[in-house]
Amino acid sequence: MPRMGLIGAGTMGGGIAQVALEHGDEVWLYDALPDAPSRALQRMRGFWQRSVEKGQRAPDEVEALAARCRPTAELAEMGECDWVIEAAPEDLTLKQRLFQELDRLIQPSAVLARNTSSLSITAIAAATQRPERVVGLHFFNPAPVMPLVEVVQGARTADAVIQATVALAERWGKRPVVAQDTPGFIVNRVARPFYLEALRLLGDGVADVPTIDRLVRSAGFRLGPFELLDLIGLDVNLAVTQSVYDATFGEPRFRPHPIQARLVAAGRLGRKTGGGFYPR
Ligand code: NAD
Repeated sequence: MPRMGLIGAGTMGGGIAQVALEHGDEVWLYDALPDAPSRALQRMRGFWQRSVEKGQRAPDEVEALAARCRPTAELAEMGECDWVIEAAPEDLTLKQRLFQELDRLIQPSAVLARNTSSLSITAIAAATQRPERVVGLHFFNPAPVMPLVEVVQGARTADAVIQATVALAERWGKRPVVAQDTPGFIVNRVARPFYLEALRLLGDGVADVPTIDRLVRSAGFRLGPFELLDLIGLDVNLAVTQSVYDATFGEPRFRPHPIQARLVAAGRLGRKTGGGFYPR
């Protein structure tokens, strides 16, 4: 089984690590915060334990799954990995620095994949000596549950790498869709108006947060826009909107909303903090 390196042990990195472990892979899990990888493993154990209690998993499976995960505070431990998947914050400079360092550390045959929501794969790939082996692998939250995965082809990503990434996603039980490297790819471009128009309704005083969410749910969506923003993380979502807005040279449809910016500045980031649009 291939050795997987996961960079960033937050919402997405932890979720993708869980998917890989559940499909028999060995996972090296790294984060800039030294205790974040072991906390992520703790969350996974909690999840697996609950599936034991529901009779969906044998009790000894939990230890077998956890044993294949290696939390680490050393980026150099990614050296032996066949794939390195990065799920660090949505910040181009940070990701470019990280990719330059990983490019030096990992074996030449390894693929560098990015779980970015919107940043250009081509721009990150250009920071490395292996642009043909840099690909986008965009999961949706929560990664262990959501079947859709966007496989994003940068300007120099090799076709063989795209095929290998599609095969990896399929082995992990996902439904991959290949997208070209445009701002927001497919899903985040389509989803921008879902959040932004709801924020504009709120800003114009047309309706309050629960009313807008209730209305959208009654139209068949599983979550309303504000519930989804709280789940995603207001900061993560704002960074994506900002990046799509910048990459489209200020297209007004994608302009970030001050209500969201104010909540982020106040540290109200959603479920992962003390709450966002709703109390926790
Ligand atoms: P998060 O804030 O939950 O986790 C990010 C993690 O990265 C944190 O644990 C942080 O300590 C760590 N980190 C910060 N700097 C780092 C560095 N230099 N090296 C390694 N780790 C570092 O964020 P998230 O929601 O997991 O988002 C991560 C990426 O996934 C972003 O690019 C985001 O756009 C994308 N994404 C998020 C969602 C979502 O719904 N949250 C969905 C799809 C994609």
